[in-house]
Amino acid sequence: MSNVILHNTPPRTVGIDVDNVIVKSDGAIQEYAKENGIYLTEDDYRALSLGVRSTHFAPDGIQSSERVDDFLDNHYVNFANDLELMPGVVEAIAEIRKKGHQAVIVTARGSNVYPNAEDSTEDYMTKNRVSYDKILFGSHNKAATCLEHGIEILVDDSLSTCIKVSEAGLRAVLFTSRINADSEFTPRLDNWLDKTNVIETIFA
Ligand SMILES: [Mg+2]
Repeated sequence: MSNVILHNTPPRTVGIDVDNVIVKSDGAIQEYAKENGIYLTEDDYRALSLGVRSTHFAPDGIQSSERVDDFLDNHYVNFANDLELMPGVVEAIAEIRKKGHQAVIVTARGSNVYPNAEDSTEDYMTKNRVSYDKILFGSHNKAATCLEHGIEILVDDSLSTCIKVSEAGLRAVLFTSRINADSEFTPRLDNWLDKTNVIETIFA
């Protein structure tokens, strides 16, 4: 009987980012813009990938533009509703929860970034059978969000977020994306496909 206990990690609260972690956002804005005849610059794409509005904030020194605001106001919700899931993510999060842990979705998405962000993201997760305990929207400082909500581990594709979260004394797991592939940050999760590896990497 004691073996069962030894093989279980105590229940933890895991934060999971949305864009480029639960859904494949990278490259999708470019495709959407092309299909809809929308012109965006490289900086615009970077601002959009960070959810940067010209009127709100500009982390990492990125200057947003009216083109970005227009995209966020008039297109982003349609674009976000059509994104594909990362392969294996539904099963991996279900496995995390099955083991008794809490899965909290933590995202910069929010109604201050684009209209209807909250309802449409919740609908998307339901429609795509992504299970979770709660969603925290509008988080632009995820280390602070994690500390405030008792999240002990965060899975995110942003290198700067992972660094800040580890500096706050929490565990950060970098989810591999095109932009962070060269970084030496560890621990790192390349995909959600191997559930055993997911559990071992997150709860090591
Ligand atoms: Mg992300």
